[in-house]
Amino acid sequence: MAKGLYKRVWDVPEIYRVRLPFSNLKKGSSNCYIVKSGSESLIVDTGAYSPEARDLFVGATDELGVDVKASKVFLTHMHFDHAEMAPHLLPAGARVYASAIGVKARTPEETERSQELFFRRMLANGATEDDARAYRACNAETAFIDQSLFDVRYVKEGDALSVGDASFRVIATPGHTADHLCLYEPNRGILFGGDAVLYTTTPSIDPLPGKLDAYAMFIETLERLRSLPLRCVLLGHGGASYHPLGERVDQIIEKKEHKLERVLEAVRGVPYCTGETAARLSLHRTMEAWRAFSPMQRYYAMLECFVSIQHLMAQGRIERTFDDNTKVYRHRAL
Ligand SMILES: [Zn+2]
Repeated sequence: MAKGLYKRVWDVPEIYRVRLPFSNLKKGSSNCYIVKSGSESLIVDTGAYSPEARDLFVGATDELGVDVKASKVFLTHMHFDHAEMAPHLLPAGARVYASAIGVKARTPEETERSQELFFRRMLANGATEDDARAYRACNAETAFIDQSLFDVRYVKEGDALSVGDASFRVIATPGHTADHLCLYEPNRGILFGGDAVLYTTTPSIDPLPGKLDAYAMFIETLERLRSLPLRCVLLGHGGASYHPLGERVDQIIEKKEHKLERVLEAVRGVPYCTGETAARLSLHRTMEAWRAFSPMQRYYAMLECFVSIQHLMAQGRIERTFDDNTKVYRHRAL
């Protein structure tokens, strides 16, 4: 076997992890999993596209004797580092299991509409036109699965997905993204967790439109995953873990709560501040230090801040008003 192409992480069913490199904010890798049971195989997430990542994937599937054409493919969510390579790897007609929310939100028309909305939202939150354009480009890091090319099967909470004699159950796990799904095998306690929970970093939360509280969804998902009896946890990034998730869930919740308090503090200190100001102050940065960040760093900081703001608004702790056409936030005196 060519060394280092994959690592066996579970025996029955056989599960292999392939680390696929990507780069955006920094260099990283995403996990693609290959499940083999009897004559069947399942691929969980495909990573981001690059010629190097494609060669790694092809090398690993060849070594393992997996026929990609006959495999089922399951995508936990449509972030580029989990799904982007799928159209570059899969033959026409390949069977792809994914969330309807995720696939439908990324058609070219829908993407254009939501990107325009995002651009205007950034302007309304105090970004300059140039910055709003840069943030819009960052927001495009998602993948599109063309239903006219692939056999896309929408899956949702409770659906079964079998591979040989292993039967996985789909769990809806919104929070990191609205479309996020996990796969769970209850008899052996195996979880494919995508980015719903991570050991390598605190997962980000995508803001949702309107008054939807993505933060609350994220915490609800974590609590649910914590309650699962798990023996094998296979996530979107990092190594395999063979323990339940309780301790890690506690750490993530603590970090998110800390961030929430920092945003609240920022808005309390500068009433009527924009989303961008709240993001900057919650990082304890001067304007100069904030501008020294790359647009992508600012984009991620702002997303986190918006999610906190939406949650604090849902709790009635922050209120939003308008200064001319700009949305501004202030602490709501109780
Ligand atoms: Zn993700």
